Amino acid sequence: MAIDILKKGKQIDKTFVVDLLESADKSLWDDIFSLADFIREQYMGNAVHLRGIIEFSNICKRSCNYCGLQKQNKQQHRYRMMPEEILKCVSSVAELGIKTVVLQSGEDDFYTLDILVDLIKQIKKNYDVAITLSIGEKTKQEYRALHDAGADRYLLRHETASPELYNKLHPDSCFEDRLKCIKYLFETGFQVGIGSMIGLPGQTNSNMADDILFLQKFQPDMIGTGPFIPNGQTQLKGTEAGTIEQTLKITALARIVCRKAHIPATTATGTIDKFGREKALHVGANVIMPNFTPQKYRVHYTIYPNKRCITEDGHKCNTCIRAMIINEGRTIASDYGHALRFQK
Ligand code: SF4
Repeated sequence: MAIDILKKGKQIDKTFVVDLLESADKSLWDDIFSLADFIREQYMGNAVHLRGIIEFSNICKRSCNYCGLQKQNKQQHRYRMMPEEILKCVSSVAELGIKTVVLQSGEDDFYTLDILVDLIKQIKKNYDVAITLSIGEKTKQEYRALHDAGADRYLLRHETASPELYNKLHPDSCFEDRLKCIKYLFETGFQVGIGSMIGLPGQTNSNMADDILFLQKFQPDMIGTGPFIPNGQTQLKGTEAGTIEQTLKITALARIVCRKAHIPATTATGTIDKFGREKALHVGANVIMPNFTPQKYRVHYTIYPNKRCITEDGHKCNTCIRAMIINEGRTIASDYGHALRFQK
């Protein structure tokens, strides 16, 4: 029985995952969801970690076909926050007792290594928070300098483990470089987050099975998976979005193959389904990221459209998310939520 194989926690292979993804057996999937929830509780506990995200620049030099921030999108209003402004937002995150700040941006060369290193050092000196960076592809030396400055974690989603699909979606970058960067991040000593988009145009069950095997192989510390949502200002306008069903299946399988990873219930999941984040919390997710980007900028960070919670400020977002977590029968973590392999 497939469920018994998953329970044992042994390595699974591609045919096995493809068969699962092609199965419409509702009771099998209900068992898989319950198993993922059980494993989450056993390995990660009941507490949900909050990570305050600050989207500090929507300027990007790249052209990812699915992303509204791509450089060709002339309809996109652009912004860039200065370090003092970013520090003010970090202060709001820390004041609320949130122990991680996530600094995310497009690939914006305005922020030189010196600026980033100084920003990280200032945050570490003044606030009691862990720092996650999500600022794209860099050299190994740059990753090392950012880590040495005090950044704890780095998110670099692999987006899809299919080199062909990856290269098609990323006209000015390639899968090989992405893989190289992910390896550098592990070698540098970061807690590393990877993850894929679910329901991309042209993505097959075989491709999604490759994503699960990719996670199984790398055993990342964090996994960011979310549905693809088409943006009308990109090459993929008018295509179908990923579904909540697919998203929950991939989230559950991610939890089963990476028992010790921190997995967010993503905003994109809450965007395609009103209760998407709640549902994700019950199939393996244990993290939520309230948004602390100032409201005047937040509306312009549109990787995909109709993003959830775009008009609320950080305090309101935080209050609403805390209430939702309690309502789902979970507690709120008060520690940093570091990767388990880094905890003493
Ligand atoms: S996905 Fe990231 S790197 Fe690609 S265009 Fe969007 S912001 Fe830039």
